[in-house]
Amino acid sequence: MITAIYAGSFDPITNGHLDIIKRASSLFDELIVGIYDRPRKNLLFTIDERVKLAKEAVKDMPKVKVVSYSGLTVEFAKEVGAKVMVRGLRMSSDFEGEFEMAMMNKKLAPDLELVCFMTSLQYQFLSSSLLKEVAQLGGCLEEMLPGHVAKALTAKYASKPC
Ligand code: ADP
Repeated sequence: MITAIYAGSFDPITNGHLDIIKRASSLFDELIVGIYDRPRKNLLFTIDERVKLAKEAVKDMPKVKVVSYSGLTVEFAKEVGAKVMVRGLRMSSDFEGEFEMAMMNKKLAPDLELVCFMTSLQYQFLSSSLLKEVAQLGGCLEEMLPGHVAKALTAKYASKPC
């Protein structure tokens, strides 16, 4: 049985994340979406909100579990018995950071393998941070987020749904 983790802030979960989750879950027996409880990062949603939004988004995917974690991602992988860490890559700017992190993670956990998925074309410019900016300015988020996430985002900024 191969368990993989897909870790990140998911502030909030987007259709770009969900695309990676769907594709990765078809390859592994179990995919654990690890939501990082990062106290120092400037996040819009609380850890409980991020977990709830992600759980709702993957509710029809039986192989996918959502859990929160803090501390090192490689330690979290060990705790849940994951052999693989999944990441998503958008443009080349993602690559440098991911490469650096991959080298460090390999040093910390040599047995944990990294599997990177290239973004699907329609999601290549999609990031949670950009979406938050657009939502704050009242832009339409259709096709970028699941409906319940778009609702939660417009509620946070008290902007009108489109
Ligand atoms: P972000 O704030 O950049 O959306 P997260 O920390 O939530 O980031 O991202 C978790 C993982 O998902 C990272 O590997 C990130 O590169 C990847 N990811 C985020 N958005 C996309 C997307 N649109 N397509 C592919 N991978 C993505």
